[in-house]
Amino acid sequence: MAVKVELAVRGPEAYSLARNVIAEMEKVGVWPTPLNFELWMYYLGDPEGALGDEIRRLLKERTVISDETSEMLAAEYLPRGRLSEEIRDAGAVLDRELASIQTAIAKAHKTQADYGVTLAGASESMDSTRGAAAIKDLVGGLSHATRRVRRETAILEERLESSNKEIARLQRHLEQVRREAMTDALTNLSNRKAFDERLAELCSETETAPLALALLDIDHFKRFNDTWGHQTGDQVLRYVATVLSRLCVGDRFAARFGGEEFAVIFPGEKTGSVTAVLETIRKEVAARSLRRRSTNDDLGTVTISAGFALREPGETAASLLGRADVALYDSKRAGRNCVTGAGALTRAA
Ligand code: C2E
Repeated sequence: MAVKVELAVRGPEAYSLARNVIAEMEKVGVWPTPLNFELWMYYLGDPEGALGDEIRRLLKERTVISDETSEMLAAEYLPRGRLSEEIRDAGAVLDRELASIQTAIAKAHKTQADYGVTLAGASESMDSTRGAAAIKDLVGGLSHATRRVRRETAILEERLESSNKEIARLQRHLEQVRREAMTDALTNLSNRKAFDERLAELCSETETAPLALALLDIDHFKRFNDTWGHQTGDQVLRYVATVLSRLCVGDRFAARFGGEEFAVIFPGEKTGSVTAVLETIRKEVAARSLRRRSTNDDLGTVTISAGFALREPGETAASLLGRADVALYDSKRAGRNCVTGAGALTRAA
């Protein structure tokens, strides 16, 4: 996507694309903030891309594109996200550390070479020198050279130790940034990016182990949001997410798939256990009557619908997702608040 857009913004169509972006933002009622402009440039520069899919989905559901939503979209879909900035910064620190170690090593190297020359000179002088004073001078020179070597070695060791500490700190920091970049800020579950990567890994051509994938969607979420407002809607998302993370333990991988939709990957599991877990999740979500925190209004219960599919040999991630999605919509059509397994994959003869 990035390459396509980079070409579009520097090509003959660039100004017309920018004008379309403004017109489109105005049409859908999105403020022309710099971040939204960038998002819409990437969206319209590659309308078939993942960002386009997500924006269309949000607009279709009449989700307000708040600053927070834009930030989330940017973190997930724009190439110059926080992670790349952090990686650039980390790269600069590493360069600095390496340069400083190189200087210390070069200096220690030179001192050792000088020391070698001093020793060689001393050996020659020994051969020709007899007097005690001359020998004393020689030993004095040698001891001075030895002290220099020791000093340089100590400096080098100190530099290496401090660099080690700095690199370890950097590793911890990058690990935290990487985790944040893979986490959905609202629900703390893995985000779509992390989910896509994990699913692609588990559906690689060589992977033959059993695998199930479920999609779960909060029933009538839009109605809920419209009635009680987005803040309460966010609490409902967090509520469902807590139930999911409590029940999706071990190898199970739960993620926020987008909007009010969640996904769970079940590596190594088959229909029996997947159905049992999804049923438990469905019942637990529906078991609690929620309250609006600000007013204590009774929000009633929330229900979810789920659909899942078992991966068939060689099946791609996209196909598996498609079948889980069909199963989810079967659950919706069957009246919601239920779990449906997908039919087998039909292949062209
Ligand atoms: P949260 O508001 O950050 O709350 C985190 C946890 O703190 C809750 O986990 C619960 O263990 C405890 N907690 C917070 N407020 C209360 C409270 O007023 N009474 C009781 N008994 N415990 C409370 P839990 O229950 O798993 O909920 C996870 C998230 O789901 C909450 O995060 C919140 O965002 C949402 N949620 C759960 N129940 C409700 C509810 O009745 N109304 C609303 N608006 N949100 C809820």
